[in-house]
Amino acid sequence: MCVCVFVRGAYFMRLGCDVLINIRRVNSSIYVSHTSTQPPHTTHTSLNKYDDIIMHLSSSSSVTSPSWFSLSSFSSKTTPRTRTRTNATSTSSSSPSTINERKGQPIKPGQSYPAKEHCSNCGLCDTSLISYVKDACAFLGPGMSRIEKLEEKVHGKRRNTETDELRLGVLFNSDTKDNTNNSSQSIFYAKKKQPVEKAQWTGIVTSVALEMLRTKTVDCVVAVGSGEADARNPEPKLCFTEEDILACRGVKPSLSPNLKVFAEIETNPEIKNVLYIGVGCSVVALREVEQYLGLDNLYVLGTNCADNGRTDGFYKFVNNATDKPDEVLHYEFMPDYKVHLKMRDGSYEKIPYFSLPAKELSSGVIAESCKSCFDYVNGLADLVVGYMGVDYDESIPMNLHPQYVTVRNERGQKMIDLIKNDLQITPSTTRGDRKPFVLQTVISDDEAYLGRGPEKGAPRFVGNLIAWVLNKVGPKGKEFGMYSLDYHTIRNYLYVNRIYGKERAKEHIPSYAMKIVKEYEGKNGDISKRLEL
Ligand code: FAD
Ligand code: SF4
Ligand code: SF4
Repeated sequence: MCVCVFVRGAYFMRLGCDVLINIRRVNSSIYVSHTSTQPPHTTHTSLNKYDDIIMHLSSSSSVTSPSWFSLSSFSSKTTPRTRTRTNATSTSSSSPSTINERKGQPIKPGQSYPAKEHCSNCGLCDTSLISYVKDACAFLGPGMSRIEKLEEKVHGKRRNTETDELRLGVLFNSDTKDNTNNSSQSIFYAKKKQPVEKAQWTGIVTSVALEMLRTKTVDCVVAVGSGEADARNPEPKLCFTEEDILACRGVKPSLSPNLKVFAEIETNPEIKNVLYIGVGCSVVALREVEQYLGLDNLYVLGTNCADNGRTDGFYKFVNNATDKPDEVLHYEFMPDYKVHLKMRDGSYEKIPYFSLPAKELSSGVIAESCKSCFDYVNGLADLVVGYMGVDYDESIPMNLHPQYVTVRNERGQKMIDLIKNDLQITPSTTRGDRKPFVLQTVISDDEAYLGRGPEKGAPRFVGNLIAWVLNKVGPKGKEFGMYSLDYHTIRNYLYVNRIYGKERAKEHIPSYAMKIVKEYEGKNGDISKRLEL
């Protein structure tokens, strides 16, 4: 697709949750094509030898009093409870163990994590659960393809790859005869009738957590609060009170080691029922170790997640995107082709993706883990809340706008039912055709990856014009969500093949993602050809 505007120069700009637009001047017209930011080629340590990496973990001496035992004031006064497995079926090759039996020692400051530069900082290795890292980490061994095996265990069924479930994951209500359009019942839009003040959107996540605590469905909630040095930095918290949960409202826009909180949970015998709030990669690891935690009930409330980064990546992004970087609380790449920066005073600065300095931002912002990720939809959570497939209406502020909800199983249904009277629910919608946009985006994106992106972002008025045009002609609603998902899948397929190598890529990439890649291969092998460049 192209747009003609009377501007000189060439620009290469970020679009959508993940997309860049390439504006080229050809024959005095400006041609616009989608693409996404990529770092230049970098050399990475192969992860093939992850067995070697974790050798030191299991060879360390037995730990009877883990160094993290003092994390909880409650637990420090309590004899650590020896929990036993509650779920019979082990999918792990490791022996089950209690915290006192595990030999693995949490990673110490300065030590490198087993998945090295591909570590998403999920927090598992900050606990004695590191003993299971080889069998749990979303970036080691079978990596993200663990999701397929775990889906059956968690949801009681695998995703149906002949329907929308191929992309959107297992849906609770998909057992209809006509499976071709099955996603409407378990995917819907919802907003709080009374939005939660200071929430990211209308506060569905916070509201579910509050209600689960009020109804004593759970004893505590794992959520993400703010770091001491900078409130914008994530600090995982174990929440026992409504105040604790409210303190965790809003997204802290970088990788958060949520699973480290299980060090505290494991040593507190009072905790039997837990709600975990987190992104997909951490949920993969959590599902692999769930059986060793000795909990009676674990509920998982996931968020959709793409293109996260480390805290230095956040600073780099805001320093380059705005002249008020210290004022930015968080930002989101929205389906209106603009990044919305939320400021401390509650106002928003909206920058068209195409006006961002893409070259400067092409490295050091998105984490390597997130370029190896095939779980945008958080496939192993019981309930997922995000915005990827909303029919975005830019006239409605984010904190009043409907959110995008996915129910994966009975637990998820129970969770959303707790607040259903407080919600205004509408069916999901879908418009347009993502397919021509996806391949165009991938090709332009890959060109950028190969170092051929323009130097600067477009002037704001040009960026706004492009965003306006794309809003009119581009995919909307669920089709936009699937556009974004397909683009990410192919981008990450190329990345993993190049960086991990073909053998590891085969092991790491789930078959549902491969099926999506094949849909775009075409007769000419368009995707495979990119790997030869
Ligand atoms: P709130 O009620 O405000 O609750 C927000 C919750 O997020 C809190 O409970 C807190 O525990 C948790 N949280 C805060 N920071 C983090 C963190 N760094 N890591 C994990 N959990 C955290 N949706 C999409 O559709 N596409 C995306 O690309 C996308 N990216 C996301 C990236 C991250 C890191 C996160 C956390 C969320 C992302 N989302 C994405 C989801 C979306 O931004 C909203 O979180 C979601 O719509 C819930 O809104 P809410 O108002 O219900 O949240
Ligand atoms: Fe450990 Fe998690 Fe990092 Fe994997 S992603 S190495 S499990 S902290
Ligand atoms: Fe984890 Fe994937 Fe989100 Fe990165 S994009 S934080 S790897 S779920």
